[in-house]
Amino acid sequence: MELINCKKISNEKTEEIKEKIDKIKRHTGKAPGLATILVGKNPASQIYIRSKIKACENVGIKSFHHDLDENSSKKDILNLIKKLNENSEIDGILLQLPLPQNKDAQDCINSISPLKDVDGLHPFNSGLLNLSKSWDEIIKKNILVSCTPFGVMHILCKSSTEIESKTAVVIGRSNLVGKPLSMLLLSKNATVIMAHSKTKNLREICKSADIVVTAIGKPSFINREFIKNGVTLIDVGINRVSDKICGDVDFNSVKDMDVKMTPVPGGVGPMTITILLENTLKAFYNKKNGT
Ligand code: NAP
Repeated sequence: MELINCKKISNEKTEEIKEKIDKIKRHTGKAPGLATILVGKNPASQIYIRSKIKACENVGIKSFHHDLDENSSKKDILNLIKKLNENSEIDGILLQLPLPQNKDAQDCINSISPLKDVDGLHPFNSGLLNLSKSWDEIIKKNILVSCTPFGVMHILCKSSTEIESKTAVVIGRSNLVGKPLSMLLLSKNATVIMAHSKTKNLREICKSADIVVTAIGKPSFINREFIKNGVTLIDVGINRVSDKICGDVDFNSVKDMDVKMTPVPGGVGPMTITILLENTLKAFYNKKNGT
């Protein structure tokens, strides 16, 4: 088994982003700005938000954090988003999910200006992704794509994984991960199979794949029975088991196979944060270019 060095890949990307921001600052005296919103006090969300703010500081993105009370109404959230939409210092807006009390997050996401939608979850941006005919078009048009799937693509590219004409199985069909990732893989000419909880014969389907991405949130669900030798296995899952973080893959079961895989922790997670920085930079450029 070969562990993909995701930390190295994400550090290199972060360094590139930092250099671009330094240049912007030297030429304009301005820095891209990212607003983060946390509703309530979910401990995991608090950790994610802290990491995102710290990552912004490291590359020179100005961060504007807003804590909203657990009991805030949808109207409170929408009012805050409206103010952030109108603030020219802010290029990106990130609403940390999930929202408490089963509030419908999509209504709030829909109110974020598509130009500032650094999570790529606004229907306008997911529509642009779905309508794109190729990877080149996605890159050229600077489309804001959900951070985790875009990070997975970056890991695949940097780990020299062949995508074109390969069979890729994406397990999980969420709007955040599985769906956009399937579109991205398709844009690079993979033959994509989307699997979910109602999929039959998941083991056999996965065994046929050259690339397996698991994003289901079930610890140790994927074991050696699901994969063939030579596969690239991307573990998006983040699961807490007796105070430890693990992915969806049963590491011990696959470690003596001929597989290339991402670790958890320290795999897709850090890359996701790096792409958030990149999306903030994209949003800054898009505003500047009037797109
Ligand atoms: P989600 O919205 O809960 O979606 C989970 C998906 O998994 C659903 O499509 C579900 O199918 C499918 N699923 C559940 N059990 C299954 C099974 N037994 N067989 C096949 N498919 C099954 O979750 P998400 O937001 O996409 O996140 C998935 C995981 O990734 C979680 O562990 C989350 O913490 C992690 N995550 C990590 C990052 C990162 O930065 N590393 C970012 C985002 C999420 P149905 O649609 O049929 O219910």
